[in-house]
Amino acid sequence: LSTASYLIGIDLGGTAIKAALFDRDLRSIDDVEAHTPAREGPDAVIGAMAGAVTSLLKAAKVSKDDVSGLGLGSPGPLDLDTGCTLDLPNFPGFANVPIRDRLAEAVGLPVVIENDANAAALGEFVCGSGEAVSMIVLLTLGTGVGSGIVQDGRVFHGAHGIAPELGHMIVAPEGAPCECGQRGCLEQYASATALVRHARRLIDREDPDSRLRRGLEERGELTAKSIGEAYRGGDPLAREAWDRLANYLAIGCTNIARICDPDLIVLGGGLAGAGDKLIDPVRERFFDIHWTLTDRKTDIVAATLGNRAGIIGAASLARERFL
Ligand SMILES: [Zn+2]
Repeated sequence: LSTASYLIGIDLGGTAIKAALFDRDLRSIDDVEAHTPAREGPDAVIGAMAGAVTSLLKAAKVSKDDVSGLGLGSPGPLDLDTGCTLDLPNFPGFANVPIRDRLAEAVGLPVVIENDANAAALGEFVCGSGEAVSMIVLLTLGTGVGSGIVQDGRVFHGAHGIAPELGHMIVAPEGAPCECGQRGCLEQYASATALVRHARRLIDREDPDSRLRRGLEERGELTAKSIGEAYRGGDPLAREAWDRLANYLAIGCTNIARICDPDLIVLGGGLAGAGDKLIDPVRERFFDIHWTLTDRKTDIVAATLGNRAGIIGAASLARERFL
């Protein structure tokens, strides 16, 4: 184990590579962001990550010898034992790439990898909303629904390293088809994508005076953000779309509570940026449908680290492994 006291966390996203330098207490020293050349294949992506590390160390005036290791949060699926990507959607050429070892070679530091949603859950557990509790479940509501489970500082992986995939728990029998091959997955009801799709359906159906419709006509586009704004402004269609999302999300959260009884279910990702406006109806519905066999112990809260959760979780893994 190294006596060097700095750590690096990297969050590999489809459009951006975020890298940050931390001290041993996970206080952030410096960070850099670089474009992800996802379409250019593994050499370019790994090279860009190594380049980000070089500029990070240079900006912070820290020598590589003083860094004990690097944690990488990567999109999945991953084989955590071998450190290989299995096949990354939106990253052509990434089937069976030994991303951990190749990054380690490129930067000259030991590397530990983790699925990005798991890394974000660990970040929230260690430094965010989960700091004072023993178990959290993170749901990230974005293009899809990502998830991570952390208990007593350990990330839950299941028997085959696939879990958790809470976005693909079925919440609607015979429901909307999902790209995963199932029907009625939570992701089809509680992601930003699903919110926009449903709002569009409502707009097509009725209410020529809806702010949503007017906003759509003015801006020429409908986004989760504009739906959130219309909701805050009291638009009935936006409310209908949002309440539907909240209902399915509450069903998902109830299933999560029955399966693993966490202290907190933490909602993160782009949609959770809507803050209390999103959380309140989900909590309300969650309390409503709660069983009567025990008091309600699990609560639903907003993530507190925003898009830094993944990078902090990745650095935290490096600390655990290498420091
Ligand atoms: Zn699915």
